[in-house]
Amino acid sequence: MGKVITLFKLLPKLHQMLLCGLVFVTLIIIFMPSEEVQASKQTPSANGEYEVNTRYDVPLAFREPTPPSATLSESTPEQRNRKQQLAPSAAKDSVTVTETTVKPEPPAPKLNEKRFQVKSGDTLAALFERAGLTAKDVYDVTQLPKAKKNLLKIMPGDNLVIAKSEDGKLVQLRYHLDKITTLIVDNGPEGYKESIVKKTVEARSKFASATIENNFWNAGVNAGLTPNQIMQLATIFGWDIDFALDLRKGDEFSMIFEEEFADGEFLKNGNILAAEFINQGDRYTAVRYKDGSYYSEDGRSMRKAFLRSPVDFKYVSSSFNPRRLHPVTGQVKAHRGVDYVAAVGTPIKAAGNGRVIKSSYNQYNGNYVFIKHNDTYTTKYLHLTKRKVKTGQSVKQGQIIGTLGSTGRVTGPHLHYEFIVNGVHRNPRTVKLPKSDPIAKKEKAQFAQLSKTMMAELAQHKQVAIAAH
Ligand SMILES: [Zn+2]
Repeated sequence: MGKVITLFKLLPKLHQMLLCGLVFVTLIIIFMPSEEVQASKQTPSANGEYEVNTRYDVPLAFREPTPPSATLSESTPEQRNRKQQLAPSAAKDSVTVTETTVKPEPPAPKLNEKRFQVKSGDTLAALFERAGLTAKDVYDVTQLPKAKKNLLKIMPGDNLVIAKSEDGKLVQLRYHLDKITTLIVDNGPEGYKESIVKKTVEARSKFASATIENNFWNAGVNAGLTPNQIMQLATIFGWDIDFALDLRKGDEFSMIFEEEFADGEFLKNGNILAAEFINQGDRYTAVRYKDGSYYSEDGRSMRKAFLRSPVDFKYVSSSFNPRRLHPVTGQVKAHRGVDYVAAVGTPIKAAGNGRVIKSSYNQYNGNYVFIKHNDTYTTKYLHLTKRKVKTGQSVKQGQIIGTLGSTGRVTGPHLHYEFIVNGVHRNPRTVKLPKSDPIAKKEKAQFAQLSKTMMAELAQHKQVAIAAH
């Protein structure tokens, strides 16, 4: 019984009321026997006492209903009609009881509601005319500021819901401003009024993970990620991992991201909240903090002084080829930089903030750009089709400094990229880069708590995913 009551409390109010009524009617049907039986049963035994094991009518049910007259005086004519239809003479009392339990619904005026789609070349006036409304209606509605602002720039494909009274008067107009916001214009006794109604957006978190078989992009797609999410993930880890050259079969990632819903309807993907990337056995983690930035699980900023790769991975064709042949001699040889093979015109980014110390051309390098980041670090970009910066110019990290090409001594289009530390060429894919700043001291405790929770959640999801395989 306790369970039944709990369940009952969970039901919406209207359902509770209907259920009450239903139970009541059922009781009455149970206790209202057929006529011949009724005669004997409603009369207690000859001595006026009730007998054991005899089913008697429950008199209370019939003695305490609100008098029918009172009920009727409160209800609308429409309800009275309904009641009479529902109440055949014999059952009149019981139905009255039921009806008093259910709150009378507000009288719903008969409306003629229709959806109109904006056609190409439509104006509000043209649409109103199609809806059987007048120029005066257009005028009245556009006197409201929000209606004026939004309805005068309706676009083909937009929908307007127009409700009219039986005599053809505009009663309500609804227009979706976006997936969650609706403009409502009501025409009531006090004239036109407008309001904006917003659905509440609810964020749910979702888990995704994948192991890379042949390339990162496909792994992401197979994990159900959108192109945008795949790029987001690559951006978050792009300071640590060269997505163009460093990924290997067996690398894996997992992440928790938000999905936004309004009234149970999917709206869009939200932010990545936490992620883990295992690249050639090295584990990288990222947690999104409330400032919108990502930090590793121990609170170091993901954002670093240098990007691992000056080319977006999605452009680079030869991801899984660790033994790089020299493009001209065709032999594996000591190579003072890294080659990224991609289509001519692929944008090349500055790996870090700095100053362009050379933007020029010669027969070996073709078009080339050198950037000095500080006294320690310099980066060089060779064989460009076009240079987009000038000598002496300051550049920001990620800024496009030119496009990939095949100028100079090359056999095919590629970017030759060098990373120089204190005058010595280093492998940009493995060089230890300056450590980034940790999260601010006053945020440390709060971040640590968040990080712990998110990482535990990620680990738990991963375990479930593994178990499911
Ligand atoms: Zn090279």
